[in-house]
Amino acid sequence: MPVITNKQQLLQHVQNVLRKKFALPGEPAVASRPLLEELIYAICRENTTPAEATAAYERLVKSFFDWNEIRVSTVTEVAEVLQPLPQAGVRARRIIGLLQKVFEERYSFSLDDLQKKGLKQAAKQLSRYKDDVNDFTVAWAVQRFLNGHAIPLDEAALRVLQRLGVIEENIDPERLEAIRGSVEHMVTKARAAEFTELISLLAHEWCTVPAPQCPQCPLRGDCPTGVHTTTGRKPEVRARKPRTEK
Ligand code: SF4
Repeated sequence: MPVITNKQQLLQHVQNVLRKKFALPGEPAVASRPLLEELIYAICRENTTPAEATAAYERLVKSFFDWNEIRVSTVTEVAEVLQPLPQAGVRARRIIGLLQKVFEERYSFSLDDLQKKGLKQAAKQLSRYKDDVNDFTVAWAVQRFLNGHAIPLDEAALRVLQRLGVIEENIDPERLEAIRGSVEHMVTKARAAEFTELISLLAHEWCTVPAPQCPQCPLRGDCPTGVHTTTGRKPEVRARKPRTEK
């Protein structure tokens, strides 16, 4: 079965197919939360689905009086609220750590003024909260709050993109930013937020660990791994005519 060899066209096709499969409740929200809250949401969102992250974030907001109460809570207390999110303890530690760093630096829980510094400076400032804020979190904030072009790549998204043959198999963590840059080159800014949501859903529904569920996946005829898994054959390559961007 022929597969699409142009990576940009393949990702566009993947997004079109997934859009029909998963009915997203409208366009993903941009700038719907203040920046600090968007970072905390992103910590919940890494390697989860939109529904899982939203439910955990809402439990967090409802269970504590304010961000300061979360800051002075124990990791166990915050993790209990985040569960059943995977790695709830790690996420809880990162959320408390981020709140502590922001509070020590500003005596407040607002980062919204970073928007005025411009995209590069704001992203650089956020990267300083390292250990709690990683490449995924910064890219999420750029996409959802700072109105820049970024595709946050967590392990789930990287796994999908590897199996689709869009990025290399063995990823050097030092090269993550460059890999993200190459994906951002292939997915336009207008499609970026929806792309992020759909790839997470694909990773959760069919492109799972340890093995993908290719026979059930709607992309099995387009994806090199899917073709190989379902037919045992090496995929036949075919270039697609460029399509007009939607
Ligand atoms: S066909 Fe298989 S490997 Fe490819 S995206 Fe679907 S589940 Fe993942």
